[in-house]
Amino acid sequence: MAGLIERLFPQSCLLCSSWRAGSLGLCHDCLHDMPWHTDHACPQCALPSGNSMLCGQCLQAPPAFDATRSLFQYRFPLSATLQQYKYGQLLPLARTMGLLLAEHVGRHSAADCIIPMPLHRKRLQERSFNQSAEIAKIVSKQLHIPLQLQACTRIKPTPPQASLPYKQRIKNMQGAFACQAELTDMRVILLDDVMTTGASLNALAKTVKAAGASRVECWVIARTIAE
Ligand SMILES: [Zn+2]
Ligand SMILES: [Zn+2]
Repeated sequence: MAGLIERLFPQSCLLCSSWRAGSLGLCHDCLHDMPWHTDHACPQCALPSGNSMLCGQCLQAPPAFDATRSLFQYRFPLSATLQQYKYGQLLPLARTMGLLLAEHVGRHSAADCIIPMPLHRKRLQERSFNQSAEIAKIVSKQLHIPLQLQACTRIKPTPPQASLPYKQRIKNMQGAFACQAELTDMRVILLDDVMTTGASLNALAKTVKAAGASRVECWVIARTIAE
């Protein structure tokens, strides 16, 4: 049925409006031009490391998460596309990114549940949707990994972090999350759209580990790479 619908109503590319987008919603050229994160990277934080070994920062001060996998590097024009998506335009991008994440990142991973980065209640009211949760729903379906939408909440509204130094970001995130679920010995995937310094994911990872999780992997659409 899906195939028939596609043939009757061919989907246009979300980025360039080409009519040859296929079921992903991205045409071959746009997919090819994406900033794929193919560099050798630190397995723990996904920053380029030259030789796929742990980076200096993870050796010195290991984060609470055990691994990070990222589809893309956070660069223009993908960065602009993800911003549009986050603020409620381009909603079909959730499906595209969920399918890509499941295919490229999920293939070799075993996990017991997926927890999307929670938004604070107020932020959720403003935006009316959680950009990470929408992607997580697709990934969960594709990989048959249960989704835990209510497991964690953001209990502290955090100011926009972009302009703050790293240490200040870490401080701001203390006590930002609560976990209501029992996660004893579970392997947990934390899903977020963009990982910048990793301060939010680190704080969330700490929270789920305190709730019993044995292993925590971060899956993100794009990783900010310092130029
Ligand atoms: Zn295109
Ligand atoms: Zn690292």
